[in-house]
Order: sequence, then C-alpha cells, then structure tokens
Amino acid sequence: MSAAEKTNLLNLDRAAMQEFFVGIGEKPFRATQVIQWIHQYGVDDFEAMTNLGKELRARLREAAEIRVPEIIQDQIAADGTRKWLLRLDDGNAIETVFIPEEERGTLCVSSQVGCTLNCSFCSTGHQGFNRSLAVAEIIAQLLVANRALGRDPRGDRIITNVVLMGMGEPLLNFDNVLPAMRLMLDDYAYGLSRRRVTLSTAGVVPMLERLREECPVSLAVSLHAPNDALRDQLVPLNKKYPIRELLEACRRYCADSPRSRVTFEYVMLEGVNDSIEHAHELARILGDVPSKVNLIPFNPFPQTQYRRSSKPAIDRFRDVLVAAGLTTITRKTRGDDIDAACGQLAGRVQDRTRRRERLALRTGRA
Ligand code: SAH
Repeated sequence: MSAAEKTNLLNLDRAAMQEFFVGIGEKPFRATQVIQWIHQYGVDDFEAMTNLGKELRARLREAAEIRVPEIIQDQIAADGTRKWLLRLDDGNAIETVFIPEEERGTLCVSSQVGCTLNCSFCSTGHQGFNRSLAVAEIIAQLLVANRALGRDPRGDRIITNVVLMGMGEPLLNFDNVLPAMRLMLDDYAYGLSRRRVTLSTAGVVPMLERLREECPVSLAVSLHAPNDALRDQLVPLNKKYPIRELLEACRRYCADSPRSRVTFEYVMLEGVNDSIEHAHELARILGDVPSKVNLIPFNPFPQTQYRRSSKPAIDRFRDVLVAAGLTTITRKTRGDDIDAACGQLAGRVQDRTRRRERLALRTGRA
C-alpha cells in the first residue's frame, strides 16, 4: 500500500479510531490504547506501542501512519510566549502560540490557513485564504507543542487551556474542528474540561447552534463594535449575521448551563470604537446576555490604518462597563516582539483569494 493510501491516525477521534480498528478486524478497545500512545505519550512509531502485539504493529505499519507536521521555526518572546511555525504537506505553514501565565498555560490554535472573513483590523485576514485545516493538522498543534514544552517536573500539565483563536474562523471549519475538540476533551487524549477549551468566533450564527448541541465548550465572540453600522465595517460577516441575531444565539448558547457566560472580545481601536458613548452602547446591548468582556489593545501590523487606543482611553472604556455591572478585563499584550499577539498571526499562506495583490494595488504598496 502506498503512503498516500495510508490512514493518518491523527485525523481520528475516538469514535473514528474505533471504527478504523473494527474495519481491520480488531477490537474497538485498541482505539483507546493507540490514542493514549499518540496523544498522551507523544509516540509516532508503532514499534514503541508495546501493548499491541507484534502482528498488529506490523498491520498498522502497512495501513496507517502518524504524520506530524514539522516545526520550521520556534521562537520565544521576551515574556516567555512561544510561537511555532509548522509546515503542512502542501507547502503552507501555520502558527501556534503558547502563552505561559502564573496559574495556567494557554495554547492558541489555528483552524484554517488564512481566513475568509477579512476583518479590517486583523493581519490574518490581510493574508488571504488558502484552505481549512484537517483534523490532524489542528490536533497536531497540541501534540507538537506538548512535545516541545516537555514535562513539568511535578507532573502537572503545562498546557492547561486551549483557545481556538489562532488563524482562521473555527465555525467555518466545524466538521474538522469538532473531532479535534473531542480529542482535546477525551480523557485518553488531552483530558481538558469543557471550561478550558474556548472556541472564538466572529459570529457564524447558524453554527453556534451546532456547537451548542454537539460540543458546548467555552464560547468567545469577537464583537468589536456596539452597533451594526460600525460592526459592518470592522467585521464584514456582520452584514450576514447582525448583532441582534448574534446576541440571541449567545443567549441560547448559555441557556442550558446556568453558570456559563460568553466572553465578548473587543479590540480597542483609537478613534474608531473606543469612545465613552461606545462603552455605554455596549453595556446596553450586553445587558441581558450572561457575559464577560475582554478588551484587546489593538496590535499593529504592516499596512494597517488603525492605531491602538491610549491606556487612559482603554481604562475609561473599562470603567463604564464595570460601572454597568459587566466583568471586564483588559487583555495583556503577549509575545508582540515575535508577532505572536492577537491578530498578528500570518503563517505562510499561499493565498488563493489574491487579496494581498488587490490590497497592494489599492494602496500602491508591493
Ligand atoms: N475568527 C475567530 C478566531 C480568531 S480569534 C474570531 O474572529 O474570533 C483572534 C482574536 O484576535 C479575535 O478576537 C480577533 O478579533 C482579535 N484580533 C484580530 N486582529 C487583531 C489585532 N490586530 N489586534 C488585536 N486583536 C486582534
């Protein structure tokens, strides 16, 4: 059997892995063993899987493979944030970021090569779009980061949280994001609780319903504006799914679990969305949604026309929200010296939308 026909086991969540083993005439429990080898022990050589008989190992070598993307760059920022550039089979490359904090370690995972949404303040959008990632390419980011970070001397987890906040729109690649999230939650793979896996979306309203039904992880919504006129400019997807519909879907998302809240992300752009009036308007529209607000100081990238709001402007904005009873946090900028901060992930996208060329023509810059 040629390499092209082999099943990459990284593409399979537990149910799919069980199907695979039943398909080759084996017992379903092999799935848990192999998932444990791959995801908990980081093993990609069947010979090392000592609880599988010799014959089974030989059959797996024939029929399957564990293909992990190669690290082509590994950078560590002054604040300890670490960014990996991973090479995919087709020549594209994606970025994954690890953000260490006192009490937790967060891995920021990409779901697509580039992005189709074209939010005006986001560097990934400016890169254009190539394709969605396979399950293997999403979960491999966790595998590769785990291996590179090594083991905590006390045996604690190093990656305690995963956020789908890297390149791409996860709800536009839901069919592959879903099995990857199931592996994140699987006790035999990464064993993270639902609270510690966060999916961030620009607001693909119909898919929020599927997420709620099939895998209700923590939800973050990139809101960035308190009214449709402004949000249409910043997040063009808003023209399709306006704020009222989006917030309605958020309320539904929280309805099943009384303690859950949606995190609303709000990028602070000087003179664009950061006035006191905007803050009051935001407090008003979020009034009846169980919510937290994350203010994100804008991270600049080449060719952007936006500037970051000043510290006093961000503080004033926050104070209005807090006075209105909203839990509000200003997100610390992390890893910006290696372009690992929010909105700075670019990877290496073989753009198929030709967006970069069009932008260069328009701005007269190559
Ligand atoms: N498409 C999803 C996942 C990407 S998340 C989403 O939109 O939520 C990336 C987060 O970083 C989003 O909240 C995004 O709005 C924010 N972001 C994008 N560009 C940014 C920039 N230049 N500075 C700060 N935050 C940015």
